[in-house]
Amino acid sequence: MPSLPSATVMLQQGRERPVLAHHPWVFSGAIARVIGRPADGDEVDVQTGAGEWVARGTWSSASQIRVRLFTWDDREHLEPDLIRARLERAFALRQQLPLTHRSNAYRVVYSEADGLPGLIVDRYGDDLVIQILTQGMAVRLEQVLELLVQVFAPRSIYERSDADVRQKEGLPQESGLRWGAPAPAAIQFRTHDLSFSVDWRDGQKTGFYLDQSDNRLRVASYAVGREMLDCFCYSGGFAVYAARAGAPQITAVDSSAGALARVATHMQQNQVHPELELVEADVFKQLRQYRLEERDFDLIVLDPPKFAHSQQQIDRATRGYKDINMNAMRLLRQGGILATFSCSGLLSAELFQKVVFGAALDARREVQILERLTQAADHPVLLSFPESEYLKGFICRVW
Ligand code: SAH
Repeated sequence: MPSLPSATVMLQQGRERPVLAHHPWVFSGAIARVIGRPADGDEVDVQTGAGEWVARGTWSSASQIRVRLFTWDDREHLEPDLIRARLERAFALRQQLPLTHRSNAYRVVYSEADGLPGLIVDRYGDDLVIQILTQGMAVRLEQVLELLVQVFAPRSIYERSDADVRQKEGLPQESGLRWGAPAPAAIQFRTHDLSFSVDWRDGQKTGFYLDQSDNRLRVASYAVGREMLDCFCYSGGFAVYAARAGAPQITAVDSSAGALARVATHMQQNQVHPELELVEADVFKQLRQYRLEERDFDLIVLDPPKFAHSQQQIDRATRGYKDINMNAMRLLRQGGILATFSCSGLLSAELFQKVVFGAALDARREVQILERLTQAADHPVLLSFPESEYLKGFICRVW
């Protein structure tokens, strides 16, 4: 366990504003000098160029984000009491959310947005799946596990720290059972009274895209009697909600055969039996194929993976979003519904709207936005940290 601040980081004059405004990242370029020799994960104090104490964070030598700030109160340290208090606060918030009344799967800790940079904890029923994304959390893993056990009393805790961001932190990919008894390969859980399962070993992210929980319900409310195309369906979140709401025919497309197999399982375990077609394909190609076949649909969901991982990828990403949106619009019957999402945090909702507009022009369709969607409330957006907002979506009517 690292001890108290081992170094002081002096900010460049003129680069202090974000830190003073409680933005939790200090980039290497904002640092004038470092007094002391911090090890990775150590606590460091952060001062203005004039030498005033501002904040405290953890050090990461390999990352461009050199310090992750966790407090602007000089009495606080990243010690068990503070971590416990923040876990409890995060848990208390979730217990108040309407979402959690009909669901026992939700994000209980969302990293910076819950005051615990680098720690993501998703709850699936009695089991927790965690991601450790920073040096500061990695060196405190044992302690964090102990506190998670105390606060959440889980059956087991798995780690799925195989996200790409670990590389930028100089951390290896890690996954495995970290505490408790191994749960069955498929962990069962409920969201909005539907039952799903995750396989913590080979699922994507922590196993399920919890951020879309509320949005699945919204999209499903347009599904009654409609023929649906669920693109990038993964394990069928949108499809199963739509089936329960009364979609009689569903085509689900994903490039992962394992994910598609789960769609069928999830339909069965919820006793919904739409006419189901599972298609293992690249959505970019499949939408073109359907156009050639002159197929059409009443409801299309586009929920692609993150296309923009860096500023340099934004142009390419917008071309990708435009392509799938345009081709999806072309497949919609008059007055059909398009639910389109982007989880690229680097792309603003405003830009995404422009991209969808560009797609509409090229597809020669008129489009009305009926609803604007974002991530569920268990993924809160911290005002001082706009990066915590990443998911945006529109439910559109296409003429
Ligand atoms: N809609 C899903 C989550 C989608 S995550 C849900 O509600 O749970 C993105 C999915 O897109 C993943 O399942 C991934 O396997 C798939 N995918 C990524 N690129 C793809 C492509 N080019 N064509 C088809 N599927 C793709």
